Amino acid sequence: MAREAMELNSLKEHYLRCVRCGQCRSVCPVFAEIGNETATPRGKVFLAHLLASGELKADVEIAHNLSLCLLCQACTRECPSAVPVHKIITAARGLLAREVPNTLQKIVFKEIWTRPSLLNISAGLFRGCQNLGLTGLGRSLGLLPPALDLAGKLPRRPARSFIKEITRPEGAPKIKVGYFLGCTTNLIFPHVAKSTVAVLSRLGCEVVTPQHLKCCGLPRQKTGCPISLQPLRILILTHFSTRTLM
Ligand code: SF4
Ligand code: SF4
Repeated sequence: MAREAMELNSLKEHYLRCVRCGQCRSVCPVFAEIGNETATPRGKVFLAHLLASGELKADVEIAHNLSLCLLCQACTRECPSAVPVHKIITAARGLLAREVPNTLQKIVFKEIWTRPSLLNISAGLFRGCQNLGLTGLGRSLGLLPPALDLAGKLPRRPARSFIKEITRPEGAPKIKVGYFLGCTTNLIFPHVAKSTVAVLSRLGCEVVTPQHLKCCGLPRQKTGCPISLQPLRILILTHFSTRTLM
């Protein structure tokens, strides 16, 4: 049996605890948006169960249904049977990534996302396509995945273009802190990064935001790619430590 299938099977005692009470539906943002049963946390747990037992064969439709989850864990916290829904979905994605490989996803998260300069160029091109209405056209023709809408319109400037590597504290320095500026905050929510650094500085922190950090690997892992995050974490910690944070 493949490692991914064994991983999903190892969660059997958890997914069998789901009594389909539906309490998780009330907190799921994806269900609130889509509104059908396959989008519910319990629907995904059931799909994972059928996949693991072999009653359903992995296919593109199941992969699509299980991709509709933000892994926010709201359902896991809400579940009265303590079903770790997000872990079950992640394990099922691992199996699906093996059985129904998604080339576009692989290119984006493995080849582009891990290379900051390529990611910046791609984000710029994507922004240009959004401005020209090409992404909307691609989606309506079914050539691009609907998930592209999730990002909304990309801001003109990523956070890294205006947040300096060192931001001095306002007033007397009290402490030095490191700020890990992730890809999503950098490209999609730069205003969040700006506010975070401003608040820390106002509190008397010298904020170190390393400019050349690479992807932490989370997007790849959460889309089912079997990678270990440990080496990437060590790399990131090394970046911070060389800036005398540790
Ligand atoms: S709340 Fe828990 S037990 Fe109830 S349907 Fe959702 S996952 Fe299953
Ligand atoms: S983890 Fe996924 S299934 Fe659970 S509430 Fe969040 S989006 Fe919904």
